Parts: sequence; structure tokens; C-alpha cells
Amino acid sequence: MEPEHDVGSGATQAGYVIARRRCLIVSESNSARSTTALPSEEGAPYAVETGPPVPPWDLEQVRRDFPALSQRMHGKPLVYLDNAATSQKPRQVIAAVTRYYEESNANVHRAIYELGERATNAYESARRKVAEFINAEDWRSIIFTRGTTEAINLVAYAWGRHNLGPGDEILITKMEHHSNIIPWQLLARDTGAALRYLPLTDDYTLDLKDMSKYITGSTRIVALVHQSNVFGTVNPVRDIVQQARAVGALILVDGAQSVPHFPVDVMQLGCDFLAFSGHKMLGPTGVGVLYARTDLLESMEPFHGGGEMISTVDLQRATWNQIPWKFEAGTPNIAQAVGLGAAIDYLNQLGMDRIADYSKQLTQYSREVLSQIPHITIYGHAPTSSSSLPFNVEGIHPHDMAQLLDQEGIAVRAGHHCAQPLMRCLGVAATTRASFYFYNTSEEIDRLAEGINQAVAFMGG
Ligand code: PMP
Repeated sequence: MEPEHDVGSGATQAGYVIARRRCLIVSESNSARSTTALPSEEGAPYAVETGPPVPPWDLEQVRRDFPALSQRMHGKPLVYLDNAATSQKPRQVIAAVTRYYEESNANVHRAIYELGERATNAYESARRKVAEFINAEDWRSIIFTRGTTEAINLVAYAWGRHNLGPGDEILITKMEHHSNIIPWQLLARDTGAALRYLPLTDDYTLDLKDMSKYITGSTRIVALVHQSNVFGTVNPVRDIVQQARAVGALILVDGAQSVPHFPVDVMQLGCDFLAFSGHKMLGPTGVGVLYARTDLLESMEPFHGGGEMISTVDLQRATWNQIPWKFEAGTPNIAQAVGLGAAIDYLNQLGMDRIADYSKQLTQYSREVLSQIPHITIYGHAPTSSSSLPFNVEGIHPHDMAQLLDQEGIAVRAGHHCAQPLMRCLGVAATTRASFYFYNTSEEIDRLAEGINQAVAFMGG
């Protein structure tokens, strides 16, 4: 699955307006911020004055750990609000990757020399850190993949193609990232199974009232997002796990947005599979994780074939390595896994509970501040959402909004956020999305609001 590279998908006429008028933006940058308080579209739940959040750590010190954050863009201090797409990296992670290459680089497993053992130890100790981080009962449940996308594909191929057929059903939701749609569409096409969707309520949460209509004796797997990459809505996975268990269906959780933002405990969730990406949680790109129950992994067919995943190879057949290596064909992303281990150390030091609290407060604060902007629509369900704020301002195309904000040094994402079925539910082609992480400040949110107001003034609003 491609990353959320939505911005370029469709140059609009308004986009050309910006290109012609970009030079004017600086001189218009002092337009006053509106003080008109409009009610938010959800009404009361977040219309409280919470004020700017107070971070539970020394934010300046934390930000000094992230070299990329101290840069200037278009002459302005960078405000990085595209954390749902990828997070910035602390120097501790960058140093761990560099140190690995300087001191331990060799291929993993089977090396009979000291350097190879160092590499293997570094790689395998990252696996154990991941297992502990999500409270997996067994380190053999942790398979390193390229990311969430590959992890979900692994399940669809290695489990789905050998276990599903006509009459079986795969259940996903209308809130999914394309990574949790397309592998199931392909699986349904290839096996004759049916792909069904859990609908959304009017306030864009999962509609669970008729769950028994959707989770039936034919349901073989339920695959759903834990935290929406668009709304930031956190779904009640445990309730759904119980329903799935009752009919004997497996459950896969897309944790791409949840694992970086709050404590995720696979034992407590009771899921069979959990997929997530290292790069959204301070780690390098190119490494992600599939957690899976060991008995399922033992019974599943391999995904990719090649070196490392075999035990013996004859001319016509082969036997498989033990788990987890049965699912890690070829040379893995060793340095990236080591970097992910360092990222987990960093997150543990701050504390996932505290990260979750602060993200929630930042999101609430941004809702309050942005909801005062005239003609803005903020999407999502405030009480259950965190870390992400999608919005549109009447009369301004989201791509133009993102481009105008970029001129102010503010990085946000505009587009369909790899969730076209969800955009259709919203009745829009695209939104602008600001997404937060623990290193963001309330001042940055104030700058976002100011940037939006400037964009409105610039576009003649
Ligand atoms: N699921 C969700 C909810 C996501 O936000 C993303 C990334 N935007 C993915 C899946 C895919 O992750 P990756 O591109 O790292 O494989």
C-alpha cells in the first residue's frame, strides 16, 4: 500500500489560484483571527473550555530529541502536524541505527562469527521488546514485516487463501484504511468468499446495534481498525472481539494508529492478529509487525518463500523453519528492527499512558480552537477520538488549504487519507487533516488556527 501521498491526486482550479497568488501570502499573514464562537458540529461534548494542555514532560527537552522539528520551512519554524502519516525520529533512534551499522552489521542467524552473533542478538532482542510492548505471551508471536500493509497481506495470503471459500464471509468496516480493504477484496475475489462492511452511525462511529446481522455463523474473520487514521476515533474492539469469538471468527486489529498513541495489550484485547508500523511510532520506515497467536502461525502456510524460512529443501519440496522465522523469508530489515527497539525504549520512558493523555488533550484543544473558525466543518466523534482532526473550510479545497499552510511552515495532509469509502460516507472527496503526537505544542495548534484564518482571508473568504 502506498503511503498517504494524497496531495498530488488532482490539481484543482483553485490550486492554480494559489500558485498565482502565493507571493501575496506573506503580506496577508497578519489578518486577525476570528473571535466568533461557532458551535461545533457535535454540540456539547467538547464545547468545554479546557485551555491549552500542560504536557507531563519538559516539552522543550523532548523536542530537542527530534532534530527535524527545529528546522524552518519557507522561512518559518516547522509545525509538523502529519503524524498519522509518519512520526519524526528522535536522535536516540537515529543513533541506534547508526551504531548498529558501525558496530554490529552482519547478516542475522546462522553466522558462526562474533559480528554475526551481535547482529542476531540486536535483531532478536528488538523482537522481544516488541512482544513486551504489546504484552504478547510469546516472543514467537512477533513477525517483522515491512509495515501494517504487509502484515495484513500476510494474513490474507497465508491464512485466508487456505481457509476461505464460497459461503464464507470476511467482515471489515467502512472506516478502514485501504491497507485493510484491498487485501480482503483480493482474497474475496480469489476464494469466492463475500466481503461485508460494518456501517457507521450518523456521528461516524461504528454502528454496533445490529452487529449480529453482520457477525454471523458465516463470518470467518473480522478485520478492523483500532484507531481511525482519519477521525482518530478509537473503536470498541473488545466488544467486537467477544461477538466474533461467539461465532468462532478470527479477529485482526489494524493497530497502525493505536499502537503509537496508547497502551495496546493483545492479551486484554483478545485479538488473533495485530498489525502495526514502526515508522508511525518513532521507528524507521521499512519495519512493522504482525502479532499472531502462535497456534495460528504454526498451522498457517508460509507467505513468502526463500532463504531463512526453510528447514530442509529437496528438489521438489521443502519443510519450514520454526515460527516466527517461517514468515521472515530473505534477509530482514535488521537495522530498522533495531531502530524500532530503540523507539520502544523511548516511548516506554515517556510512558504510553501519559502519551495517550496528552494526545487526547491536544486533540481536544485543537477542536476548541479550530471550531471557532467561521465556516469550518470538523469531522469525527469528539468523545472517542484522539490524535487526528480532519476538517474542511467552506469554499477552500483541502489541497489548497494544505498548500497555503505549507507556506506558513505548517505540514498537514490533504486528500482521501487512503480511506475513499469513508470519504464517501462523509460526502466529500477529501479533507485536510492535522494529526498530533506527544512532541506537538498548543502554540503549534494556535499557529494552525492562525494559518487557516490567513488561508480564508487569502482565498477571499
Ligand atoms: N492502517 C492505518 C489505520 C494507517 O493509518 C496506515 C498508514 N497510514 C496503514 C494502515 C498502512 O500503514 P503502512 O503504510 O505503514 O503499511
